[in-house]
Amino acid sequence: MNGVGGVEADGERHDPRPDAAKWFLSGDDDDRARYRDAIRRACDLVLDEFADEATPYSGAKPEELDDALARFEMLPHEGDGLVAALGRTEPVLRNSVGVSDPTCVAHLQCPPTIPALAAEVLLTATNQSMDSWDQSPAATQLERQFVDELCDLFGYENGDGVFTSGGTQSNFVGLLLARNRVLLEEYGVDVQQAGLPPEARDLRILCSADAHFTAKQAASHLGLGENAVVTVSTDDDRCLSMEAFDEAVSDLRERGKRPFAIVATAGTTDFGSIDPLGPLADRAAELDCWYHVDAAWGGALALSDDHADKLAGIEAADSVAVDFHKLFYQPISCGAVLVRDESAYDLIDRNAAYLNPERDDDAGVPNLVSKSVQTTRRFDALKPFVTMQALGREGLASMVEYTIDLADDAARLVEADPDLRLVHDSDLNVVVFRYVPETGRTGDTAGERRVADLNEAIRDSLLDDGEAVVARTTVDGETCLKLTLLNPRTTREDLRELLREISTRGTALETTTDDRYA
Ligand SMILES: *Cc1c(COP(=O)(O)O)cnc(C)c1O
Repeated sequence: MNGVGGVEADGERHDPRPDAAKWFLSGDDDDRARYRDAIRRACDLVLDEFADEATPYSGAKPEELDDALARFEMLPHEGDGLVAALGRTEPVLRNSVGVSDPTCVAHLQCPPTIPALAAEVLLTATNQSMDSWDQSPAATQLERQFVDELCDLFGYENGDGVFTSGGTQSNFVGLLLARNRVLLEEYGVDVQQAGLPPEARDLRILCSADAHFTAKQAASHLGLGENAVVTVSTDDDRCLSMEAFDEAVSDLRERGKRPFAIVATAGTTDFGSIDPLGPLADRAAELDCWYHVDAAWGGALALSDDHADKLAGIEAADSVAVDFHKLFYQPISCGAVLVRDESAYDLIDRNAAYLNPERDDDAGVPNLVSKSVQTTRRFDALKPFVTMQALGREGLASMVEYTIDLADDAARLVEADPDLRLVHDSDLNVVVFRYVPETGRTGDTAGERRVADLNEAIRDSLLDDGEAVVARTTVDGETCLKLTLLNPRTTREDLRELLREISTRGTALETTTDDRYA
């Protein structure tokens, strides 16, 4: 029997490590073999159970998935090894949405590039944590250099930034900086220490009615309340209307409110529309507002010589959200928030003795925790780094350009189909439309409800059969279908077939569901 600390009564030392300690990477030959075997098996599972699917979804319902998974205890008392464990992921892989399938075209969920998937293997194996330099020395330096070049791409000479979990966090950070700045500069309140003063009740954020919901969410998290967000109506192109903006500002001023932040969107989630970034930059300067651009989606246009001019004005933003897990084709999660002036980070400065002591600051050791609202943080910068090295900006730009052209083709195909009506022709890679059969053009409420139900039913039936994953959304009270075309493997022919299928299903559903409306 083992004595205390693994020393037996006879004084001989035994290895006190648990048997489970063999499941870790080391230089030991057996450990290396286990790692190689595990990764190879995982790779084969991806290829055999996920990547070979003929349709983008199995069609399984929530109950069916629960049944398939109920066979496994989630927290078993004993494990039975790697091979059995990996085998149990089969129902998960089989019933995942095929993000690389040409007809998986619902959301801003991109197919990830193979170089990025390889990078993911490296960054999880090394498990660097970006909060302090001593947990991620080379990773910290790489992220900093990557961010520096991103700042150049967007025109920020003294810029800075960090990687984030995505647009939600990036928008939150932009508005956090904005809030802290106005309260410090205008009211002399260090909100980090003192909390919100009563004057904060008058602070207002301006954005378009089509801005992402996370602007309101951030206002709520920041203690300003969702009512602090004033939404400005959009014009015919679904971009923020400058006329409506100016009206909203004079109205706020009359009521003694302080507009302190403007959120412009470069690529609204439903329409891919880009707000007037230049004019809004001018207003931000005139009104002494923080200017945040939510370029979670559209930021990728900066890569393309053909499309970069659509972002003109972004160089004047105080902060920008860019997602790499959308139009930069990186696996989730991968985003960044950039600031035009690195000194903005003074507004959220704090020191934790164990991570970023002032001594390190003085010695110039970068501990990125001071720029992030996360502590432990993934080394996500490695993914776009490897992708950029492999494909170059040119390779990425070619996909941005191709998919924007594809959306244009889709819009033309919709226009050519008598049963489909184009709702919005986007600047980005999305198309919004409705199935409206001849009989549905009555214009009355019952007719409209019927068309709405038909569009829902088309979307549901495509998903139920696993045939295609398309999105639905509501535009001006009308239920519409939406194709978000991120996949550079989707062809015009795939779209032609998908749209034909949508019309065919619409017609079939119309006859089968007719009695429901009788
Ligand atoms: C996707 C998106 C977000 C949210 O970003 P996440 O990465 O999902 O957190 C915010 N704004 C816009 C415009 C987006 O497209």
